[in-house]
Amino acid sequence: MSIQQVTVLGATGSIGVSTLDVLARHPERYAVFALTADRKWQVLATQCLQHNPRYAVLNDMAAAVALAEELRRQGCKTEVLQGADALAQVASHADTHVVMAAIVGAAGLLPTLAAVKAGKKVLLANKEALVMAGGLFTRAVAEHGATLLPIDSEHNAIFQCLPNHRADYLVDGLQSSGVRKILLTASGGPFRNTPLADLKTVTPEQACAHPNWSMGQKISVDSATMLNKGLELIEACWLFNTRPEQVQVVIHPQSVIHSMVEYVDGSVLAQLGNPDMRTPIAHALAWPERIASGVASLDIIATARLDFSAPDYERFPCLHLAQQAAARAATAPTILNAANEVAVAAFLQRKIRFDQIAQVITSVLDKQDVIEPDSLELVIASDQKARELAHSVILAL
Ligand code: NAD
Ligand code: MG
Repeated sequence: MSIQQVTVLGATGSIGVSTLDVLARHPERYAVFALTADRKWQVLATQCLQHNPRYAVLNDMAAAVALAEELRRQGCKTEVLQGADALAQVASHADTHVVMAAIVGAAGLLPTLAAVKAGKKVLLANKEALVMAGGLFTRAVAEHGATLLPIDSEHNAIFQCLPNHRADYLVDGLQSSGVRKILLTASGGPFRNTPLADLKTVTPEQACAHPNWSMGQKISVDSATMLNKGLELIEACWLFNTRPEQVQVVIHPQSVIHSMVEYVDGSVLAQLGNPDMRTPIAHALAWPERIASGVASLDIIATARLDFSAPDYERFPCLHLAQQAAARAATAPTILNAANEVAVAAFLQRKIRFDQIAQVITSVLDKQDVIEPDSLELVIASDQKARELAHSVILAL
């Protein structure tokens, strides 16, 4: 097998670092083609020295200048590029085979779509891209013959539990493959048992301290509100060609089962493993083969028990909002996602309280009309409008 050239979008983040860890274990299979980040040039410099990519891209201009200078000083041949166009350029480059889409938020949409339109093997961690523009995104995958593989642990688990002939359900819907429903598991985050009254005063540090997973700040807050599970419900509908009613959210605090698929004959298939993103990353990288990921063997005896319960919407209003947006479809998920990104950033900057994240999303969804998103321009305009509305709602709180 020839060596696969891999572009990692969002290399300095939690998923990016785990991806580089897996790639470095298999130098006979993979080489790093390009690494990208927003502005953390020192981290990117260290990664370039270790992995020797052909390109490094930073979103921020001053950071790109600093990186180029540092790499020159160290004698590293990596070429430094800057800006959104350069992200799309390395994601769609003729010499890259695999693209890990691990930018956080809506900023990941255009470079990920560029990879899709170039027919790449795209490993999708950036769920916001799919939530924001699912219809356009999945049509582009089919039209350009891209291979889309899920990195989100739940979706990777579902993918592993579905039949191999996935082309069938992508055309005819999941029911045609004998699937009755998807059981989407959720840990419940750090506030699963916190007294409701205390949710008004929780800090960004507490919200980011996830009990089972170590992740970037934005997804950590989304896990604490469970908006993350709502985004994942929408993501599952697009990835597996199914309807929100066919997806049941289940709280499973141990995060050992990563999701399940129930068939019409009553069989329920689950994928289990330690909560470490290197498992889905290695799975998607090598699919349909299997490679080592560095993840320790699951100690099922030490795990001892697996608990399940239904989510509580009073505690997790964001999950309910996302379920409603999923049912409403059109640009409702785009608006939900944009309003959430602005609200989470404001919470992390201590401008709003944790419980106000749901209030901001509710107000924006009430104020903005939902339309059929039949072009990328319309999707981006809806996203922008929702961000503006969210900022004004926050100012008025
Ligand atoms: P992170 O915050 O740790 O990293 C984000 C990366 O995106 C960084 O490299 C950052 O430089 C880059 N980035 C941010 N804004 C950018 C911009 N405007 N332009 C270009 N690059 C930009 O986030 P993460 O936890 O690694 O998550 C990345 C994505 O993967 C998210 O969409 C998240 O929902 C998804 N995901 C993460 C996990 C996890 O365990 N961390 C699990 C499932 C899904
Ligand atoms: Mg997940």
